[in-house]
Amino acid sequence: MQETAAYWARCAEALELALDATPFYAAWRTADPGRTASVACRYSVLPALTKADLRAHFPEGFVPEGVDFEAELKSGHVSYVSTSGSTEDQVTLFWAQAWWNQSERASWALNAHLQRIADGTHREAVLASPKCVGPYRAGETLPVAERTLGRLLFLNQTINPGNWEADDLRRMLGELAAFRPAVLEADPFYLAGLAAFALDHALPVYQPEAITLTYSFPAQAFLNVIRQVFTAPLISSHGSTETGYVFMECEHGRMHQNTASCHVDFVPLETRPSGAVLGRLLVTPFGHPVQRFVRFDVGDFAERTSGQPCPCGRRGGLTLERIAGRASDMTVTRAGRRMTVADVDAVLAEVPYVRGFQIDQSAAGALRVRLCLAPHAGNDALRHIEKALGQVYDFPVAAASVPMLEHEPSGKVRLARRTAG
Ligand SMILES: [Zn+2]
Repeated sequence: MQETAAYWARCAEALELALDATPFYAAWRTADPGRTASVACRYSVLPALTKADLRAHFPEGFVPEGVDFEAELKSGHVSYVSTSGSTEDQVTLFWAQAWWNQSERASWALNAHLQRIADGTHREAVLASPKCVGPYRAGETLPVAERTLGRLLFLNQTINPGNWEADDLRRMLGELAAFRPAVLEADPFYLAGLAAFALDHALPVYQPEAITLTYSFPAQAFLNVIRQVFTAPLISSHGSTETGYVFMECEHGRMHQNTASCHVDFVPLETRPSGAVLGRLLVTPFGHPVQRFVRFDVGDFAERTSGQPCPCGRRGGLTLERIAGRASDMTVTRAGRRMTVADVDAVLAEVPYVRGFQIDQSAAGALRVRLCLAPHAGNDALRHIEKALGQVYDFPVAAASVPMLEHEPSGKVRLARRTAG
């Protein structure tokens, strides 16, 4: 890591504003070694901030002394927002559009394609769950004018791509071609559904200059079908409502920290056979006008790069090999080895006709696998997959072909789940 003095000054400022002046962090002060210690060390010994903390202490606990959040709400600089997590995951916090935009713009510098294309005036189409983003009234397809907000067009009005009718899919392909966005921002689960339809019906598809993938895990199983249809570079972006834009994939495929916008503590768990280190991500966003979050546990696993620096030349902050999926979606082999969503995906990505998967592991270890398969998948496809997963897990595996994956209340998909036992 090569961080500038200015970066560490921002880290120190964020930490001290929390510890000295923000009610929730009063309980953390005794853990702080103080200003004689390095900033990195001061961060590393503090607890993690959890969603349960946010639910229990929002709003007063996270607003620094001297900040009048009622006045900020009245002025319209901030508003309340509920995140799109599942019911037990959902939190309410302050949304600040200007802060969010600044974080997004800073993230563009981390990818050469976006640096060239994105300037804040470029046209962008969005394809994701309408419960996560964009104008939406349940049961309706709003006219395109109502779904066009300035430079943004929100394409989708349906929860779960498995529920799309052929007319919806043709409408979205048509709107994409008419709007001609420079960038398509997509939930990979949804974009894979659109790509599969275009592929199976040999339909022409408008090609944006870049595709950013966010909202849910960019499984290779989704990317494989997207790449058969779209020629633009696929760029993963990782962040959250709580933290802003935290990581962006560079043109060499690694994820770089958005150091202009946040600090990230990496909490290592284990070294993987590849040499990369698996760990959790605790994010401290900078500069929010109202709320102060420090070491917020985003709930995802990531693999930190080991060895050679990224060929793109970016050296600031943390560099990840990849995001490895939600920590809560981890499964285990009989030998007790952690299987992240990325690990399961790596097994299934080898099977070219898999377009989507969901695995459920029982408390005893057995796996139930639901699969969306391409039309050309042969009769032995399911047995082949059972064998491949069985060899990795050493547990019984039962696979079934399904027309659609199950979605969460947010409209996002979880690719792996384990029953607690
Ligand atoms: Zn890079």
